[in-house]
Amino acid sequence: MKPKIWLSSPHMSGAEQTYIKEAFDTNWVAPLGPNVNGFEQDIKSYLNQDRHVAALASGTSALHLSLILLGVSHGDEVICQSKTFSASANPIVYQGAKPIFVDSERDTWNMCPNQLEIAITDRLKKGKKPKAIIAVHLYGMPYKVEGINEIALKYDIPIIEDSAESLGSLYKGQNCGTFGDLSILSFNGNKIITTSGGGALVTKTEEQKQEAVFLATQARDNAPHYEHSQIGYNYRMSNIVAGIGRGQMTILDSHVSKRRSNYEFYKSNLAKIDIIKFLEEPIGYFSNRWLSCILLDSFETREKLRLALEKENIESRPLWKPMHLQPVFKDAPSYCNGVADDLFQKGLCLPSGSNLTPEQLDRVISTINMYFAG
Ligand SMILES: *Cc1c(COP(=O)(O)O)cnc(C)c1O
Repeated sequence: MKPKIWLSSPHMSGAEQTYIKEAFDTNWVAPLGPNVNGFEQDIKSYLNQDRHVAALASGTSALHLSLILLGVSHGDEVICQSKTFSASANPIVYQGAKPIFVDSERDTWNMCPNQLEIAITDRLKKGKKPKAIIAVHLYGMPYKVEGINEIALKYDIPIIEDSAESLGSLYKGQNCGTFGDLSILSFNGNKIITTSGGGALVTKTEEQKQEAVFLATQARDNAPHYEHSQIGYNYRMSNIVAGIGRGQMTILDSHVSKRRSNYEFYKSNLAKIDIIKFLEEPIGYFSNRWLSCILLDSFETREKLRLALEKENIESRPLWKPMHLQPVFKDAPSYCNGVADDLFQKGLCLPSGSNLTPEQLDRVISTINMYFAG
């Protein structure tokens, strides 16, 4: 068996261990400490906007706290992009609220502004105003920021920007992770940078950040004993994990370049196969190309190609299955135009790690070429 080629695997810089060693040497082995503050500062500087960053245990916990900060509670409705990873939607249910799913458009594969407006007006007609909109920059491609913002503003509904897959992506020169009323990042093992597991909440005010940190550390009131007037969570990032994050921030931009060059490599080397289509960047969009995705002509081709790659020990994966088609969300209302489903049927994510070697990339290309040569 040939050695495994992974879809997206962790890629360390070497600098991580310096920060971790320092944490051990100074006994900062806790969910606070200099690495946590340093990592938050590094992200804040990178995002290059007037924002505040709280380092948390995961992207999912950041989404959960976002909903709490926006006052989402039992019986509320929250609009969520249907084409995404389940973690975007699950926290809605943690709050006892109801997810309302909205389909995608073809230019970015993300939330369709037209479908969004249809969903909002219909929910209003049915008697409830959605409490928030969760929009996602899938695979690193920014969503139609202006289109989505315009609708959100028109109906006065806050946006939670799920930027878990898009750290390093830009929309008209501005960093993804700075477009929401609240934004979240993820540093899970397969993301563009990883802390092994972790996430962050990006806020517009210092007060929101402090509120998030308060909730993330068990909501302890100011008292010598443990006093609680609210339900808290254990969602803060540890100082050890943040040390990995500081090391990863030093190579974020080179990871973005490498992932973008993976995409370019696939595109130019598969150009002769007419069936294969790529998602191009619209003007003004800069994707970190977290995953390089292709579209085939049918479900059958997509599955056969996936199995041909698997036989060569190459991991590939269908695009996210839309949430409105997931058994767990079968009762959730959805506003659909068929785009997310079609992309799911025909789309495949190819190995995309920043640590892929030229030999590994060649193996992927020759396997695909061999499949199409019959
Ligand atoms: C990874 C991911 C999350 C969740 O982040 P975790 O850190 O794994 O909890 C949320 N949304 C999207 C779109 C993701 O890809």
